[in-house]
Amino acid sequence: MPILEIFVVTSTAITFCVEFAYLHSERADNFTWVLQMLKEHITSGEVEVIVTDRDVALLNAVEYVFPKVVNLLCLFHVCQNVKAKCKMTVFPKKKQVQIMEAWEALVYSYDETQYYMNLVNFEGICSSSSIFNDNVHDKWLIPHKERFVEAWTNRVIHFGNTTTQRVQSAHWSLKRILQDNIGDICSVWETINSMIVLQHSKIIASFEKTIIQKVHRHSNRLYANLRGVVSKNVIDHIVAEFDRVKYVGIDKSECRCTVRRTHGLPCVCEIARYSMISRSIMLDVIHIWCTKLTFHDDGSSKPSKLSMKHEIKVIVKNFDELDVPGKIALKGKLREIVHPSTTLMCPLVDKVKTKGAPNKVWKPRSSVKKLTPRPSVNKVQQPRVRIFKDWLSVEIQKFIDNIINVGEDGNCAYRAVAALLGMSENFWAFIHEECVVELQEFISHYEIIYDGKIFVQQLIHNVYVEQVATLDNWIIGCDCNFGYTM
Ligand SMILES: [Zn+2]
Repeated sequence: MPILEIFVVTSTAITFCVEFAYLHSERADNFTWVLQMLKEHITSGEVEVIVTDRDVALLNAVEYVFPKVVNLLCLFHVCQNVKAKCKMTVFPKKKQVQIMEAWEALVYSYDETQYYMNLVNFEGICSSSSIFNDNVHDKWLIPHKERFVEAWTNRVIHFGNTTTQRVQSAHWSLKRILQDNIGDICSVWETINSMIVLQHSKIIASFEKTIIQKVHRHSNRLYANLRGVVSKNVIDHIVAEFDRVKYVGIDKSECRCTVRRTHGLPCVCEIARYSMISRSIMLDVIHIWCTKLTFHDDGSSKPSKLSMKHEIKVIVKNFDELDVPGKIALKGKLREIVHPSTTLMCPLVDKVKTKGAPNKVWKPRSSVKKLTPRPSVNKVQQPRVRIFKDWLSVEIQKFIDNIINVGEDGNCAYRAVAALLGMSENFWAFIHEECVVELQEFISHYEIIYDGKIFVQQLIHNVYVEQVATLDNWIIGCDCNFGYTM
């Protein structure tokens, strides 16, 4: 009698069996019943991604029970099947190697454009092997490419689970136990139950390990909000992405942002921006699954009854009615809410060192101090601002409505641009980033404007800031023209 097992992966990368069933036969209605039982036990009633082998009855049952699910096909088994067919139908052996290389390039195409380019190459190599070519097209590429080719699988959150390989060992160990078992259904149930109890203990241990144990490679300030809250495997994944920052930077086209789409985690370009503004990665940019370190149902999987639809509608209506400066100001305010990591709405990373400092004792203010108040910061700065205004010619002065003394950390010009665009001054890092994107996107135009490739490259280098701006990163001379024309 066939046995169907359904496995789930925890945030700590442990695979465990959530359901097993003896089937009368491997027909769609048998699979449907098993999946319906599973659906009843899932709190949210929904599953986002399922990975299976190419069993048409199972595929149909999955579609019937979970109509919204993305049903991926195990990439490992697809490739094994294609390889076996290639060995049987393609000769000589040298040709087989060529074909499998082209096949690998095809399945790992990162977008549709690359896929169709690789397909032309693959078909060219297979042109003399029509049986193999037809088989691969009819069996895999035409009906199922979206289920295993990266160009499509990279669009769904699968947390790296694109094969069923990780469940193979668990499956075989259960099979071996059941084969050795000569008892009735009750003894089989007991055997499986013991296995599940063992799994349960193993998972709890992995959760506790994540919460308690400190890992040296996670000590970077970037992970301060994640330590003990997010699975270690997940932080490791972010660490691996962080290692790529020095090669990729904030260039989205170079980053491709695959990890953001497949794992719900910050990708290289996102992490690069965190490095620039010297802040820790916020918890709300991490997929909720990665923070699941308990068996307790905290209700996070249930759809919230709260809605913001009405408020969003009013904001959009008000925005449409505003003039351009009003629109910029409102957009700036919303950006502060939507991207708190780029504003002071999130806590500062580095705490003030208090070690060794004398304990402060609160004392009432003396009345003498009240009678001789110190001038406020604004009053001290006022003359400096006036002096600065005096440097400018009278013709320019009449166009100045206001002078803002922005923070002095080397990014003051970028702070000024951010403020003038209606954002918070703390969006200076965002302005840096937008400048780099602008320069890279229209590099050919800027090369003409500045009469030289080297100068523009230098400009990009200067505009890009890791954390603290040095003298090289300041807006000076003709960089200003660039800043003003953004
Ligand atoms: Zn990215």
